[in-house]
Amino acid sequence: SILADQISAGEVVERPASVVKELVENSIDAGSSQIDIVVEDAGLKSIQVIDNGRGIPVDEIEMAFRRHATSKIASRQDLFQIVTLGFRGEALPSIVSVSDVVMETATEGKPGTKVHLKGGKIIDKQISESRRGTKVRVDNLFFNTPARLKYLSSIQTELSAITDIVNRLALSHTDIAFSLLSNGRELLHTAGNGNLKQVISAIYGINVARQMVFFEQENNDFKVQGYISLPKLTRASRNYMSFLLNGRYVKNNHLSKALVQGYGSKLMVGRYPIAVISLRSDPILVDVNVHPTKQEVKISKEQELCDLLSQSVYQRIAQENL
Ligand code: ADP
Ligand code: MG
Repeated sequence: SILADQISAGEVVERPASVVKELVENSIDAGSSQIDIVVEDAGLKSIQVIDNGRGIPVDEIEMAFRRHATSKIASRQDLFQIVTLGFRGEALPSIVSVSDVVMETATEGKPGTKVHLKGGKIIDKQISESRRGTKVRVDNLFFNTPARLKYLSSIQTELSAITDIVNRLALSHTDIAFSLLSNGRELLHTAGNGNLKQVISAIYGINVARQMVFFEQENNDFKVQGYISLPKLTRASRNYMSFLLNGRYVKNNHLSKALVQGYGSKLMVGRYPIAVISLRSDPILVDVNVHPTKQEVKISKEQELCDLLSQSVYQRIAQENL
């Protein structure tokens, strides 16, 4: 029901950045190689996500807006080995229940479809252009949930939350070309050539990227690799540490602490690295199904991973200081 969708919307879409995240993750899941994001007034006026992915077959479109209509879990086994980003089938119904949405989508070689939804109901559906891919436009976000609107921060804060999300998704998908346009200004543009250093450079600037060093270590359960700035060169805040676990952007305090510890920040209080760190494990060791927004994860053998991380960072930095 639309009410259930609105309640779930409170969890899945708490701010414009969450809409951007869910839409872009859908584009990623659809196998896109290019994803363009266009926002006006930090997404409060409008959010557009345009991809060149596989599109939605015409007979599946209405399904896509229904709750728990995910096309992404085929079996119980899949639930435990999640490789796609979306898997709950909550995002689209939640978003359309609190905004006006126009979606244009086409699969390879078929005529496209354009649907218009208002407050969760399809009010118009027609044939449209047939460029393969999907374009979702979200207007008037939270128009029917004024309480939610009131909780939002300033345009600047909401925009930096959007930038943050897009940066992270770009970092975790170096083979996808991303662009982010905000009120006509380009905030990010990545090449999509699979080069992590290129994405780091697009986000933090070429000078920062040049100063970062690469490190890599593995044991039986985990592989840790990434780029990190050197203590003598940077004075970053703690916001510039990014973790990708099996390709998915995650937040985890223990990992952050382990990184900072390996970096040697006990000695230099308040100093943090700029770091982009990729962690790999058997997916069975990772439980992503903890919260609908899916950034928090539970990791089995977490202490072992933290030890590997801080040790490899420590050794890489020590090597630099020789
Ligand atoms: P989930 O991503 O959890 O499956 P969503 O509500 O985000 O659920 O999306 C519902 C369904 O709509 C997806 O499973 C997918 O089949 C389809 N879909 C949504 N966005 C896109 C897109 N950009 N390209 C192709 N299919 C899409
Ligand atoms: Mg999704």
